[in-house]
Amino acid sequence: MKGPIIMKFGGTSVADADRLRGVAALARERADAGVLLVLSAFSGVTDSLFAAGRAAVAGNEPEALVLLDAMIQRHRVVAADLLGAALPAAVEAAIAAAEADLGAVLKGAALLRALPERSLDILAGRGELLSTAILAAYIGAPWIDARTVMRTDSRFGSAKPLTEEIGKLAAEKILPLVGPGKIAVTQGYIGADASGAPTTLGRGGSDYSASLFGAAIGASEIQIWTDVEGILTCDPRVVPAARPVELLGYDEAAELAAYGAKVLHPATILPAVELGIPVTVRNSMVPDGRFTTISRESASGQPVTALASRGPVTVITVSTPRMLGGAGFLASIFEAYGRHGVSVDLVSTSEVSVSATVDGKADVAALARDLAELGEVRIERDRAVVALVGERLLKTPGVPGRALGVLSDINVEMISLGANEINLSLVVERGQAAEAQRRLHAAFFEN
Ligand code: ADP
Ligand code: ASP
Ligand code: MG
Repeated sequence: MKGPIIMKFGGTSVADADRLRGVAALARERADAGVLLVLSAFSGVTDSLFAAGRAAVAGNEPEALVLLDAMIQRHRVVAADLLGAALPAAVEAAIAAAEADLGAVLKGAALLRALPERSLDILAGRGELLSTAILAAYIGAPWIDARTVMRTDSRFGSAKPLTEEIGKLAAEKILPLVGPGKIAVTQGYIGADASGAPTTLGRGGSDYSASLFGAAIGASEIQIWTDVEGILTCDPRVVPAARPVELLGYDEAAELAAYGAKVLHPATILPAVELGIPVTVRNSMVPDGRFTTISRESASGQPVTALASRGPVTVITVSTPRMLGGAGFLASIFEAYGRHGVSVDLVSTSEVSVSATVDGKADVAALARDLAELGEVRIERDRAVVALVGERLLKTPGVPGRALGVLSDINVEMISLGANEINLSLVVERGQAAEAQRRLHAAFFEN
């Protein structure tokens, strides 16, 4: 028997009552196999919860409470549209709890002028509890509290899932509710640690939740429903001519997500790979339109499948003649990164220098002081990585040359080839990243 399917709907797919009607219809159409619906918060809600938190920390309690109230009213309006003026008790309770809990968190934050990560997660994850309460009531499907299944560590704000425990909890609490013909509803993005304290998986984490749940219940497919027709050849906000990619290998998709394609949370692919579960990315506005299938078999076979970009990044270069033949030199450089907890992304080395990119938000001052003892240090901020990803990238002669050719008047400051040979990363000034992508897209995808 085939396993149930996961249907994950992102914020734009659950923006209002009509969209939720659409979600319910799609789930019912596919209910034969059994469906676990994984929802995000209504679009914009997580942002407004963070904004309320910031207002409270700044001491502006009235503004924080106005934002909270607007968020609550929006849910009341959608709920009444779908369910009628007298809301079911479960929805009323979810809304009342949000009002009370978040009011207390925000007032406390305004008083203390501080919002510890632990409390921030109570705030940030509330949108998912509300959207799912409303949809579950509308469909008449069981509502599963993801905090009772998605067990994580206690790194609030970007908690790590504990997959073994999630598997056990899902077998007990989810599997019985998603047999053939059945639909159940749960939340993306949120979980809880062993003590029961609410956690979140990091912004955009609902995709990751979907694939974790999929692996935990042995789903036959993980469907990510969003507002574009699958994974496109480039971010459509940068290159409007970007077009859908039909087939992608797990490696290609993971690489694109890691290099900034916002359409998938970077960790989404991993749980699916281990069990070989196909992941599809679909457009909830055009359900019968084109979509992307990511699986073991479906590697694109293309030299360049898609482009992605991430920034800002900072490039740190250490140069010294001592590198020539100096054993242990590289080790001492990376030891310094490790000691300062600065995570290195791309690396490129020459006879006399080592360049590495790190997240633009990383605090590198102390690291730079230590590195200065090893050589001359140069720090360049406000750079971006532009990545070309493709299964046959390095097996196809001429791709790097062609890429650099179309960028001839854009300064490419660093080049790095992924170890798995499916990624060519170029570092450029952040202000030029969009133009670089437009040129590369024209060269590789628009004939
Ligand atoms: P959701 O709310 O459904 O999770 P997101 O906003 O997180 O949706 O992700 C979808 C958005 O990702 C698209 O609307 C698009 O603007 C952006 N995006 C960036 N890169 C890509 C890409 N390569 N393919 C498709 N969408 C992309
Ligand atoms: N609602 C969360 C966010 O906006 C999680 C998600 O949508 O994936 O980050
Ligand atoms: Mg998303």
